[in-house]
Amino acid sequence: MNKSFRIIISMFSLKIFLTVLLLIFSRNILIAQDSLWQNKTCAVSLTYDDVLNVHLDKVIPLLDSLGFRATFYLTGYFPGLRERLNDWKAAAEKGNELGNHTLFHPCEGKAPGREWVNPEYDLTIYSVERMADEIKMMNILLNILDGKTKRTFAYPCGDKSAGNSSYVDAIKDQFTGARSIQAKMQSKNEIDLFDIGSYIVNGQSGDELIELVKEAISKKALLVFLFHGVGGEHNINVSLEAHSKLLHFLNENEKEIWVAPLNEIAEYILKSKK
Ligand SMILES: [Zn+2]
Repeated sequence: MNKSFRIIISMFSLKIFLTVLLLIFSRNILIAQDSLWQNKTCAVSLTYDDVLNVHLDKVIPLLDSLGFRATFYLTGYFPGLRERLNDWKAAAEKGNELGNHTLFHPCEGKAPGREWVNPEYDLTIYSVERMADEIKMMNILLNILDGKTKRTFAYPCGDKSAGNSSYVDAIKDQFTGARSIQAKMQSKNEIDLFDIGSYIVNGQSGDELIELVKEAISKKALLVFLFHGVGGEHNINVSLEAHSKLLHFLNENEKEIWVAPLNEIAEYILKSKK
């Protein structure tokens, strides 16, 4: 073998070696990115239920000041909606999600602690079709408010049955996803979009809420907070201080945490599953 031929051979094998190295390297980058959330370590969604005045008067101004957007689950017949329609429109214009929480908030009234459920809106006397229709009507109402056709749903009281049958499949074509009330934080691949877990906030301190976020970071998971009252207006409540401490922590750690309305996160999961 002459010298120049040997040089060509060794250059050629070096090229193959470098190509293989590059392929392995870029594949690892792709795998690493796939487990991430918009190139951040975890995702957090702030969700607020039952159309309270404090959401408009206290929560949204704080979200605005920190550059955050959230999901508000609205119920058609609650006074907090019909008395403040323009404020909810304005909230949607800022990029907040108006989520569907039905027209009449039906729940299973026979369950313990459910004496407050109006017997007319007891899910045990509903049919699946009636529930799906009620939810469809709420989507029409929300569409009039925000002009959108894509949003998420929150199961009232976390109940998923009407009569004795699950209504989950009957509403799937109307939503990008649905929030349940099981406390779980899952990675992108583990999430069932029609059973997205959430943590009910009731009396925790700011530090306790921040601990949950740290857990989500370590698990590279999605963490959904479920708020009702913030500084009052509901018996399930968190103090203004604890809520504010959590939001400031999220703001200070934005490099690691993707904070977004649940609809955007559900769409992102859907896209990355394809
Ligand atoms: Zn509710």
